[in-house]
Order: sequence, then structure tokens, then C-alpha cells
Amino acid sequence: METELDQLAARDREVLWHPFTQQQGWEDEAPIFIERAQGTTLWATDGTAYLDGTSSLWCNVHGHGHPAIDQAVRDQLDRVAHTTMLGLSHPPAVELAERLLAVAPPGLSRVFYSDNGSTAAEIALKMAFQWWAHRGEPQRTSFVCMEMGYHGDTVGAVSVGGIDLFHQLYAPLLFATHQAKPGDVAHMRALLSERGDTIAAVIMEPLVQGAAGILTHPPGYLRAVRELCDEFGVLLICDEVATGFGRTGTMFACEQEGVTPDLLTVAKGLTGGYLPLAATLTTERIYEGFLGEFHEFKTFFHGHTYTGNPLACAAAIATLGVFEREGTLRALQPKLAQLGDLLAEHVEPLDAVAEVRRCGFMVGIELAGFPLTDRMGHQVTLAARRRGVIVRPLGDVVVLMPPLSITAEELERLVRVSGEAIAEVTAPTLALAA
Ligand code: PLP
Repeated sequence: METELDQLAARDREVLWHPFTQQQGWEDEAPIFIERAQGTTLWATDGTAYLDGTSSLWCNVHGHGHPAIDQAVRDQLDRVAHTTMLGLSHPPAVELAERLLAVAPPGLSRVFYSDNGSTAAEIALKMAFQWWAHRGEPQRTSFVCMEMGYHGDTVGAVSVGGIDLFHQLYAPLLFATHQAKPGDVAHMRALLSERGDTIAAVIMEPLVQGAAGILTHPPGYLRAVRELCDEFGVLLICDEVATGFGRTGTMFACEQEGVTPDLLTVAKGLTGGYLPLAATLTTERIYEGFLGEFHEFKTFFHGHTYTGNPLACAAAIATLGVFEREGTLRALQPKLAQLGDLLAEHVEPLDAVAEVRRCGFMVGIELAGFPLTDRMGHQVTLAARRRGVIVRPLGDVVVLMPPLSITAEELERLVRVSGEAIAEVTAPTLALAA
């Protein structure tokens, strides 16, 4: 007999097109419908509980259903759900900007809102480009980005992306860039010394390239890039969409190398993973480059309908409040050590694992050389699900990125189950090869 869940699955297959999903495969698998969540637990419509091992795509910070964030959104809903930032302002936008600047790397003094990580990157790129034009250096039209870099899926963000699988097909649509080799200071120096005066900015994910498969940079690389940008007079854009809000163990990754970029993008964890909101932060030097009489046309002609949405700002203010009140970053430190120990115990010794990369609470478990067609990363995801844990791979890299609020017991379960799932699905192939 067809259940309600079967009917919902049939309706999903009939009308939806899921992001980053081969629909042909999706239509063959039984989908999981999440209907509620609390803390790090997601409940499906059939009552099954799952541990949210991906922070609902790298954005949940303090857990689902946090009372302070819930209340802040409800309170704001009683006032106004949405009003525009174009020609008007609202109190939560101001308060959030003040609070954000208070925790951001020193020297950042202006906040430009948008509504997702890709648009935050687009804004940073356009600001950098336009700033140089206003300064009388319109030849600075290109950008240096990273091999395997990722800044989102809109066309400008794709132009500065370096993941062939996602980006190469669109090449005819994209503006030209120069790709730096991540971690290679000499290569960055060569790029900037050859073309420095044609480059508007370097854009990079600081410390770790998430979508590349949690590709960590050697210590000191970020600092070195900052110094090279200063030496060659090029702007630096740091994309903290994934790394921001504690994910690397500090509020922002840039802090760990004492770096202030000229432009900083944030999204994902900004609202605790509640609502879509992003921001591009910059310095007074960049901001002032856009000031002038209207007829000088120095205005930054950019803005989205839901820019700085008040409900999202309220969630973000509450999220920063929880960081302070609950001492989230302090409480995270022992969990970081525990995570390292757990990976060493349950994952690193597995024959199927080539490498475990980690930066704070961002973990990439690279499986060893399985044929692409085996979709081993995906198989691991399905095996973990059968054990009540949600993880999502990037190809054959199994990514673990739990909410910062995860408990020690849940963290143990996440890593142990991931190890078990990897061992289960890779065992037949490894046995054949032996
Ligand atoms: N930048 C980085 C570093 C990201 O990891 C992501 C998303 O994963 C983005 C930008 C894009 O953010 P969004 O999906 O909100 O557009």
C-alpha cells in the first residue's frame, strides 16, 4: 500500500529539481524528508532521528531550535518581516553591523549586506574592480584566484572558482583570471610581479579551501599573501563564508594569521544557519573611494531585494549574542582536541583512507583511489544514513562539519559511524584488490 511518505516522494520527483544533484539518481533513491530539528538532531517524517554531521550544509552553529535565536526571530516577526535597505534603514541592520565589526578582524569598518555567499563574493569583486576605476587605474580588470577555489555559483563567483567539475563548462561565460597554486608563496609572488598592475584583487578562502575537499594551506601562507598584496599594491579579498563564525576554532580564520583583508565575505553561519543573510565587510579606505557628488557616478550600483532582511539580521544578532553568553569558542577548544583524537582512532587507520585533513571543525576524509564510477563518497553517505548520521561528500572526500554546539558523545558517534560507514562500503573493493 502506498504510504504518505511514498506520495510525498512521488510529488518531490514530479516537481522539484535539487541543487548539485543528478536527478536521475535522486529519482532512484528513497528521499529523506526532514520535518523538524533540535540541537544537532534532525527528525525525518517517518520519525527517524539523524545526527546533523554537515551543520545543514556548513551553516548551523549553535544547534537547531536554539531558544535565543528562535525568540529573536519571533520578536522581529512581531515588528516587521521585511523592509528594504534601498533608501531606508532598520534597527537590526545597524545593530548587527556594529556587532559584526566588533568581532571582525581589526580595520574593517563598513558592512554591505546581501543574502548568500555567492552574492557576497560578487559584491567584493565588483567593489574591488570599481574602486580601482575610481582611483584612475581602470586597467586593473583581472583577479588572482586559487586553483580549486570556490566562492559560489553565480557567474562572477564561478569566474574566480577553480574546481573544473563545477566551473569549466561555463568558461565561455566567465571573465579571465590568473590561478595561483594554493600554498605556494613563490608562485603568488611570480603572478603578482608579472601582472601586479593589471590585477584588482587576490581572492581566497583563508587557511582552508572547503569545497576543494577541505584543502588546508601551510601555516603562514595567508600572512604571506597579505604581505605580497601590500608589496604589489593589490587588494585582498578573504572569503570566510565557510570558515567564519568559529568553524576553524577562532571566530574568523584570518585572526589565526593576524590578517585583515581589504574585503571580507561572510554568510552561512552568520545567522547561526537560520536564515539567508550575507555581508561584505570592508575598510574606510575602500568605502571612501566610492564617495562623491551624485553626478560623479561613484555610487556602488548594486543591491538585492532581500539585502539585510530584518528577520535574518535579528537571527544574526542573537547568534553573536550566544557566542558571547555561552562562551562558544572557549567550549569548542576541548572538542577540537577530542575530534583530532577520534579521527586518529576511528578513521586514520582505515585502509580505505588516503588522508585526513582538518582545520578546526572542518574535516575532509580523502578516500584512497577508488574508480569514480563507484561513487564511494556517496556510498559512505548512504551507509552513514543507515546508522542515523547525515554526512555529505565532495566526490571521494567525506566531509564532517558538525555544529559547534555538538556534545562530546555526539562527536564520538559522528566520527565512529563515519569510520564504520567507510569500512563497510570499501571492504568489498579492498578485498578484491588484496
Ligand atoms: N564561498 C565559500 C568559501 C563557500 O564554501 C560557499 C558555499 O559553500 C560559498 C562561497 C557560496 O555560498 P552560498 O552557497 O551561500 O552562495
